[in-house]
Amino acid sequence: MYIQIVEVVLGVPFGYEPNNELNKLLEDFRKMINFCIDYAHKRRITSYAKLRKGVYEEWKRRWDYSTHFCHSACKIALAMLKKYRKKHREGKTEAKKLFMQLDPELYRFYGDKIRISVRPRQFLFINLKFGEYQKKFIYSWKEGKLKIGEVTINENKIIIPFKKEVDLQNPEEWIAIDINESNVTAVSSNPHVLRIDHELRTVHTTYFIIRRGIQKLAKYKPRTAQKLLKKYSDREKRRTEDLCHKISKKIVDFAKQHNLGIVMEDLKGIRKRIKKGRQMNRRLHNWNFRRLQFYVDYKAKLNGLPVVYVNPKGTSSLCPICGGRLAPNGHRLMRCLRCGYEKDRDVTAGINMLRMRGAPLPLKAINEDSNPLLSEMERIVIKC
Ligand SMILES: [Zn+2]
Repeated sequence: MYIQIVEVVLGVPFGYEPNNELNKLLEDFRKMINFCIDYAHKRRITSYAKLRKGVYEEWKRRWDYSTHFCHSACKIALAMLKKYRKKHREGKTEAKKLFMQLDPELYRFYGDKIRISVRPRQFLFINLKFGEYQKKFIYSWKEGKLKIGEVTINENKIIIPFKKEVDLQNPEEWIAIDINESNVTAVSSNPHVLRIDHELRTVHTTYFIIRRGIQKLAKYKPRTAQKLLKKYSDREKRRTEDLCHKISKKIVDFAKQHNLGIVMEDLKGIRKRIKKGRQMNRRLHNWNFRRLQFYVDYKAKLNGLPVVYVNPKGTSSLCPICGGRLAPNGHRLMRCLRCGYEKDRDVTAGINMLRMRGAPLPLKAINEDSNPLLSEMERIVIKC
């Protein structure tokens, strides 16, 4: 058994009260970035050391903040230029949004507040606003289980990345997770089938209808309509996030209990599959899939379970036993035209994903005749 250590990082957003001093700092930092971009662009500088050396004297004359702000501005300027050149080849970009990144030299985290070193021995304290979600991270950090990295601050949020080093085990058994519009089906090689019926689509449809109603109002009362739209889209976001947390927790708890590695579809493939589907809800569905996968990914890794991705090509159209074509046969069933294999559509996708991973197949379950696998199915229904 090998041990693979990975660093799991999760950026956790905290709110804060707007504050003039911090706002001034954010505005100055944006100027610093743009100053560095100009300097690097004119002289065609791409190396951090060279840029830092070149701008330093002028930077010190203009701003006189802690030197680390200069380091950070140089790093961000180069990253932005690099990204811009990749796309446009020529020309330069400009920082428009207010944000800054502070390396650990520039700030100190106290759990409920952070302290920014504006100048040597001159500090700015910011009280953080947080709820239950953030509290869990703060406790783990206080217990020394989590470390923190570079924080990002923008006009209304402070994002603190919590880091943890975990030993990823090398499990013998795996669980494949197939995410659909109305359910998440997980098939494990030990074997079990876990089906979580979720209401992500219902939630989305509900709010889609509400939004359409509000848009009619926009003609007469545009301001009220705008306020309502914001209110309902915030509410929708909270509900979907909450659902994604619940679903991913169920899956990871199950995987942990049975010591299973996790197999998921490569996101690029998911994107393709949605494009072919209905257009109306495309963007949000896409976003939900990604969010759910992201939650499963980091929760699994925090628990020391490895996560792998497989190409989803053919997972729902090829027979996992003989590789023949599958054809729909009744409600949600797929049947192999060559060997007669017949099983639930989503379960089949899971078995195919396990096969692609090279994990042992749940043969016992596959070979059972009467409604195979479903007899071993744990059906969990999540409603919100
Ligand atoms: Zn077959």
